[in-house]
Amino acid sequence: MARFIFITGGVVSSLGKGLSSASLGALLQSHGYTVRLRKLDPYLNVDPGTMNPIQHGEVFVTDDGAETDLDLGHYERFTGVSATKYDNITSGRIYQNIIQKERRGDYLGGTVQVIPHVTDAIKDFVLDHSDDVDFLLCEIGGTVGDIEALPFFEAIRQLRNELGHENCIFIHLTLLPFIAAAGELKTKPTQHSVKELTSIGIQPDIIVLRCDREIPEDERKKISSFCNVPFRRIIPAVDVKNIYDVPMNLHKNGFDFEVLKLFNINRKTKPDLSRWIQISKNANSIENNVNITIVGKYVQLKDAYKSLDEALYHAGLINKIKVNIDWLDSEILENTHILDHLNNTDAILVPGGFGQRGSEGKIKAINFARERKIPYLGICFGMQMAIIELSRSLLGLENASTTEFGTTEHPVVDLMTEWKKGKSVEKRDENTDLGGTMRLGAYEAVLSEGSKVASIYNMNKISERHRHRWEANIFYKESLEKKGVLFSGMSPDGKLPEIIELLDHPWFVAVQFHPELKSRPFDPHPLFVSYVLAALEKSRLV
Ligand code: GLN
Repeated sequence: MARFIFITGGVVSSLGKGLSSASLGALLQSHGYTVRLRKLDPYLNVDPGTMNPIQHGEVFVTDDGAETDLDLGHYERFTGVSATKYDNITSGRIYQNIIQKERRGDYLGGTVQVIPHVTDAIKDFVLDHSDDVDFLLCEIGGTVGDIEALPFFEAIRQLRNELGHENCIFIHLTLLPFIAAAGELKTKPTQHSVKELTSIGIQPDIIVLRCDREIPEDERKKISSFCNVPFRRIIPAVDVKNIYDVPMNLHKNGFDFEVLKLFNINRKTKPDLSRWIQISKNANSIENNVNITIVGKYVQLKDAYKSLDEALYHAGLINKIKVNIDWLDSEILENTHILDHLNNTDAILVPGGFGQRGSEGKIKAINFARERKIPYLGICFGMQMAIIELSRSLLGLENASTTEFGTTEHPVVDLMTEWKKGKSVEKRDENTDLGGTMRLGAYEAVLSEGSKVASIYNMNKISERHRHRWEANIFYKESLEKKGVLFSGMSPDGKLPEIIELLDHPWFVAVQFHPELKSRPFDPHPLFVSYVLAALEKSRLV
């Protein structure tokens, strides 16, 4: 059976609970253990799939097609373990399942209640598919005291009782704020947060303190004494420059050893932290810089493109290149001169997106990248906009567009009503619900021999994650090919274009999937590595 580690947060949200959980997962791996990370989200949406990225950040898609919280991206990037649909649940989904059962009559006339029905459903979720790992780390979203999170806290309290203290620990992450006027770090918010936690029956075993400066021993002692946690288990987590330094930083403060000791494991051998040491070394020996412009719609919030930001960072790091990203709102491009924004860029990227607003700005940027021979990477919507640009400019179809924006004379990007998933066929139409109904998760693509992408991936069949409803319309493939657009990646049945590239261009590749979701700091995605190198080459031409 797996050992369980529950991570809760207090004082404020956005403290980096996801990063701390992911880092602990990585540290346990460095001791030779297998891990899986899970997230329990208290909000009422069934999944984050229909939520606005500006509010919630990116939607992270798993291989098996679940639309999940962006913290699962951190988990994958730090541990290299691919998440699944068993790794993220919301109150909304729990209630949806319970209500469906109630309507079916499964409760045999009983009264359905938060305790035991909701808490049991949460416990079942935590325990499901957990047998194959040494440690299961489970993060509770939000902060202690949130009304909607109460059933989750109650469920993990019960689990600790059922699984036994030797198989289950609680870690609480809080903030130690510095009050400038007093010139002091304040421990009171942490004390209150732990008080709140103990009032619902959870005594933390370890407290991790986020702070923007070194934490004096006295403050740690105070927290130890007031919160009833031994001093060595009050772990400082002082801000670091690079998120990939977090595992090493927590390790230096004894985090992993304290966790293992709580499970009665006394490690004599040293953990293998070489991967994190190497990343930190590369980050400190940058030799080159490139400037990449991302032309998107949700540029106000970096978390909306979290995996993309990380994938570019990983791709730069391996070649000691610092990737500077200019986040450009595509709507601005529609009414201003393009040279004001893109004159000094080394590469252009149009990421995933939804809806018509700002799309003409993206098309303008793609046109600029194509004509000026600036490296271009189009991702999902960025490939669909490229198809529109190429159809307009190379085929002279002035009104070429996507049916996502309404009916059009030349639907060069069109809604898919039917496609193959493994051996089954998925069907959709205009009336299908929005949630969970896109082409989601891992699909294979066959790459054309001799193409740029085949040499980048160094293989001829790939699997990448998808999240979209529309597809490049194969009806226009032949005419585009005649103009030098190579459809270099296709679905195995040859019906869905997965990748296009331009023959007469140094680096113009657009993909229907989301390669950024599979990039890891110690295993950067080949497409991004190649793209960043192309940007470097471009920067040297100027
Ligand atoms: N809006 C487009 C579609 O649904 C692209 C989606 C995306 O970029 N993820 O097909």
